[in-house]
Amino acid sequence: MTDTSADLVILGGGSGGYACAFRAAELGLSVVLVEKDKLGGTCLHRGCIPTKALLHAAEVADAAREGDKFGVKSSLEGIDMPGVNSYKDGVISGLYKGLQGLVKANKVTLVEGAGTFQGPNTVVVDGNRYIGKNVVLATGSYARSLPGLEISGRVITSDQALNLDWIPEKVVVLGGGVIGVEFASVWSSFGADVTIVEALPRLVPAEDEWASKQLERAFRKRGIKFKTGVKFTGATQNDAGVSVSLENGDVLEADLLLVAVGRGPNTAGHGYEESGVRMERGFVITDERLRTNLPGVYAVGDIVPGLQLAHRGFQQGIFVAEDIAGQNPRVIDEAGIPRVTYCNPEVASVGLTEAAAKEKYGSATTYLYSLAGNGKSQILKTSGGVKLVKAPDGPVVGVTLVGERVGELIGEAQLIYNWEAFPEDVAPLIHAHPTQTEALGEAFLALAGKPLHVHG
Ligand SMILES: Cc1cc2nc3c(=O)[nH]c(=O)nc-3n(C[C@H](O)[C@H](O)[C@H](O)COP(=O)(O)OP(=O)(O)OC[C@H]3O[C@@H](n4cnc5c(N)ncnc54)[C@H](O)[C@@H]3O)c2cc1C
Repeated sequence: MTDTSADLVILGGGSGGYACAFRAAELGLSVVLVEKDKLGGTCLHRGCIPTKALLHAAEVADAAREGDKFGVKSSLEGIDMPGVNSYKDGVISGLYKGLQGLVKANKVTLVEGAGTFQGPNTVVVDGNRYIGKNVVLATGSYARSLPGLEISGRVITSDQALNLDWIPEKVVVLGGGVIGVEFASVWSSFGADVTIVEALPRLVPAEDEWASKQLERAFRKRGIKFKTGVKFTGATQNDAGVSVSLENGDVLEADLLLVAVGRGPNTAGHGYEESGVRMERGFVITDERLRTNLPGVYAVGDIVPGLQLAHRGFQQGIFVAEDIAGQNPRVIDEAGIPRVTYCNPEVASVGLTEAAAKEKYGSATTYLYSLAGNGKSQILKTSGGVKLVKAPDGPVVGVTLVGERVGELIGEAQLIYNWEAFPEDVAPLIHAHPTQTEALGEAFLALAGKPLHVHG
């Protein structure tokens, strides 16, 4: 048993934890990073990166299948799942190596093992104590299920779905949020018959209602079925398949049931509650500077209530490192965090939905620009649009985009939101032709009272 002291001890080496470690090391702090599994956490090994690799393989499959739309003779011979998985795993292992290199380059002490927090400032790993002037809790999240729904066999979560070496013929996806619609999109492109079940009235219910309608229309065209506003009541499985029962009496037969009903905070059994960390419904409660109720103890990432996104974790980690180093960083505006759902078509947004803006400001001006007027989108044969939401006599407070590849446009949209730009600020800025960024530019031109490629 040894004692090691450091400026900062971080429990959990996922997006939030490692970003905090690297920034703190850059700022000259000594850092111990404790990770029980693989550095990189959910995002790299079980989340963002593998899902986006599958979605890219799905896009390639669609391109092969639909070549004739562009006058190219091609057909989809089939999907080689081991081949897809080796492509996906190759991406992960390359990034994983890079991350391990960054730990060394930043001189972060990586401790491999499961840590337990012992207040006020210690993490214990295999009997050894790591004592920090400050401690950051960053243990991430896990895939939730519903009461009575056991994850086993044909009932899986994203963890198992990412490593399947076969494609289901029929699959039911429970949950029409981000993870659910992304897997639905992949499996549909790979040839599966997909049905999504969502208890709320629409797919991607956290997005602007307009985006949900656009996505639902596109999914209908793609043959992806969905049942919204209906609750799941139970599932039974045997060697042949799984039967999924719904509240309205429907029974859906499938090879697999993907449970994508959200993620819970991974906070039990790590000593948080025992050490007096204030928690609610399993989440660690912090103030806006990510400080828990215990002095010198911070929390970042999915264990803090709010958007469960990797780049939120990165930013929170950086924020905490800078705060500890006395740099007084600016508090993170949760609404300014861009959100992208990478199904086909993509849904991307930043800031407020129309409904949220109306609630906040009493009223809001909106403008919709259809991708039908955007040259590049027509070349790609994608439909969708841009929706802007503007505060009364104020800046643009919300941008929502739907269409193939529009996730890449969120970079500009988040600058507009976070810099509190008025339509008149953006309208004179020039967008390259023909790109999809022009759709954003055109929407701003129109909102500034000088529409260009707009009918009626
Ligand atoms: C299928 C899927 C797709 C996703 N896609 C996206 C996306 O496209 N974009 C996006 O922004 N986000 C996406 N996310 C969310 C993103 O992965 C998470 O928001 C992000 O990983 C959270 O980072 P974190 O640091 O809070 O936690 P994690 O990444 O979960 O890391 C926590 C780490 O702590 C370790 N740990 C836990 N307990 C202990 C302990 N006691 N001792 C030591 N180590 C411990 C774990 O092993 C883990 O490595 C996706 C998630 C899933 C599941």
